[in-house]
Amino acid sequence: MSKDIATFSIVAGSLVCNARCAFCVAPMTPANGIGTKEPVINWRNFRKAAQYARDGHCSTAMITSKGEPTIFPEQVSKFLDELEPFNFPIIEMQTNGLLIAEGKKVTDEHLQHWYDKGLTTVAISVVHYDAEKNRQIYVPHKKEYIDLAALVAKLHKFGFSVRLAVVLVKGYLDSIEEIQKMVAFAKANKVEQLTMRPVTKPEESENESIFKWTSEHHVSDDFVNEVNAMLESGGRVIDELAHGATVYDYQGQNVCMTNCLTVATSQHELRQVIFYPDGHLRYAWQYAGAVIF
Ligand code: SF4
Repeated sequence: MSKDIATFSIVAGSLVCNARCAFCVAPMTPANGIGTKEPVINWRNFRKAAQYARDGHCSTAMITSKGEPTIFPEQVSKFLDELEPFNFPIIEMQTNGLLIAEGKKVTDEHLQHWYDKGLTTVAISVVHYDAEKNRQIYVPHKKEYIDLAALVAKLHKFGFSVRLAVVLVKGYLDSIEEIQKMVAFAKANKVEQLTMRPVTKPEESENESIFKWTSEHHVSDDFVNEVNAMLESGGRVIDELAHGATVYDYQGQNVCMTNCLTVATSQHELRQVIFYPDGHLRYAWQYAGAVIF
């Protein structure tokens, strides 16, 4: 395969997550060998996968998980150590941010090490700017959600860029007024990037209750069009990404409207290659057969 590769995704952690999102798609895509314990990583294949991505002109490596990667902070450190020789200009990590905010399991030493090893961007998954709304989705079993503004400030203090990765859910951010407040929150907290995507409603599901929940809480296509129209009229398109996302400068705030779980159809670019701990490299989350080695 000689296509250019947009993102080198690294599946860290395990299936375990400390949040309880009703829309979590992780159980809906094939496990591909991931369990609930800290996995043993096939480091030989990891280096091959990183080389493959760099040979495909990939500039972004993204540490992600089928659960929550920061549950195993030493493993995140090891991934960053192993990535260092490949010189990816952009290294991102997707997280729910809870353990970073708490500062017990993920310590300041971890954060400093991750910064020193090249982590550029921490992408925090949220559904709202309001703590109670985020609590209902992420930690319904707890009394309080974290202080999101304080978490952003903490990450900035260490030198990271912050992306708020917003999942649009009916009953949460589902009006133009609320979207504008979300943008204002991002701007007030100097969040570098704000991405928004509708909650994923897959066609096929391995889990009926999640499929039902996402079907009931999916925002309409009309609403997505309204948000795009708002961003276009009040801002400027600054990039069109290969997988159908549009990036805007909206009154000085970077905002990206994106879709999820799409398989790239471009003849020249693969949206991503995905490294699994057992050593397999794939190019689609939802098809176990999409395997490179
Ligand atoms: S934070 Fe992410 S992995 Fe964890 S339950 Fe929510 S969607 Fe799933």
